[in-house]
Amino acid sequence: MTDATANCLFCRIIRGEIPAKKVYEDEQVFAFEDIHPQAPTHVLIVPKKHFAGLKEAEAEDAELIGRCHLAAAKIARQRNIESGYRTVLNVGPGAGQSVFHLHVHLLGGRALSWPPG
Ligand code: AMP
Ligand code: ZN
Repeated sequence: MTDATANCLFCRIIRGEIPAKKVYEDEQVFAFEDIHPQAPTHVLIVPKKHFAGLKEAEAEDAELIGRCHLAAAKIARQRNIESGYRTVLNVGPGAGQSVFHLHVHLLGGRALSWPPG
């Protein structure tokens, strides 16, 4: 295990070292409830493979990023929030990224204004 993986909050959640409310899991993707929800549905969807974020993604990560979004769509369907939801990648500290393991936010269950802050 690399240092980045050993110390990463989301890798630790995936390994079960830190508790989280699991929402979805398959071979490559893990999803759990955000600890500080910003909407009635606020789920984080992460690839099980560690990489820091969209900036650091490589061509070989394209499918994983897509799978995270498809998992978000599946969760949104299950939760009946398909009238309007948002998937968000915060990229870099200036956009609010605070955890450096790529994650898709799934937000829904309330009206969402545009543009986001
Ligand atoms: P970001 O700011 O885009 O990097 O998103 C990180 C998200 O992780 C925030 O929405 C936090 O509320 C959430 N978060 C931080 N720690 C935990 C945790 N232990 N379990 C679940 N979500 C967390
Ligand atoms: Zn990680």
